[in-house]
Amino acid sequence: MTDLSCSLLSAAPDDEEREWTLADYEAAAARWCPGCGDHAILTGVERLLEAEQLPPEQTVFVSGIGCASRFPHYLHTYGFHGIHGRALPIATGIKLRRPELHVFVVMGDGDCCSIGAGHWIHAVRYNLDIVALLLDNGVYGLTKNQTSPTSPKGIPSNTQPRGAILPPINPIAATLGVTNASFVAQTGDWLPAHLYATLQAAFHHHGLAFVRVLQRCPQYTPAIYDVAMRDPDLVELLVHPNGVVVPELDRLFKHKRPHDPADLDAARHLAEPDGKIRLGVFYRNETCPVYEETRAVAARSASEKVALLGAELDRYAV
Ligand code: SF4
Repeated sequence: MTDLSCSLLSAAPDDEEREWTLADYEAAAARWCPGCGDHAILTGVERLLEAEQLPPEQTVFVSGIGCASRFPHYLHTYGFHGIHGRALPIATGIKLRRPELHVFVVMGDGDCCSIGAGHWIHAVRYNLDIVALLLDNGVYGLTKNQTSPTSPKGIPSNTQPRGAILPPINPIAATLGVTNASFVAQTGDWLPAHLYATLQAAFHHHGLAFVRVLQRCPQYTPAIYDVAMRDPDLVELLVHPNGVVVPELDRLFKHKRPHDPADLDAARHLAEPDGKIRLGVFYRNETCPVYEETRAVAARSASEKVALLGAELDRYAV
């Protein structure tokens, strides 16, 4: 992670011509547990940065608090390791002030779906042109195993040792229910080709791309995704030219469902739990208003601002 005031801002002019390699994006060695799905997600993100040749000084990763929130430390871009649940408002501020930057948000399930839930809903409605990743392992891992809003019912934790009492929040269905949602997708950390293709689709979407990454936590919730990882028959791939198409997965997964991501009603239907884990783009709409464009105002000089202010005050003259 690099502080916003540091040397990346003064990148050499030669950087315009420079070709960025994977090594240019790598920062501190990741300290997640062995086997943690976050490692694979980090690799997928680094591949995306290299493939898209995103200049590190024009790229920002914002996180809240949790295992996933270490992300900015492991990337040699700008980064903001924020406070719990507040990654999206921080990213909103950055994007509004510097709309030309590539802004990524990395949240955990507690971060996004609990303390940050209000920000989640409104960020989706604002539809800024950013990528928002929810790394969902169904547990508070950093604080060592408490039930989270997405813990499947019956999964034990320190706070609910007899198993989670409530049915979990469904992040895909919840996001699809928000006004102005423009891109909603789901992928899994154990399928690097699908993960990468989904990240690519999200990056190229114009608007807020919400991606739920099913993330393995071998430390506390190995039961959640291990079964699906070992049995591809439990997974159904949503396929469509406007979604995610990964030919190399054709032989591995026999369940594939054509789904046009333009169909919101079908997306909502597919998001409902029915025993299958669905991966792919549920919904995509490039026509939704993007907040930083909707509220953009023409740059004004100081004297123009003073004149406008004077005219406004004159309206109240008595
Ligand atoms: Fe990953 Fe779980 Fe370890 Fe956190 S506790 S680093 S989520 S394996």
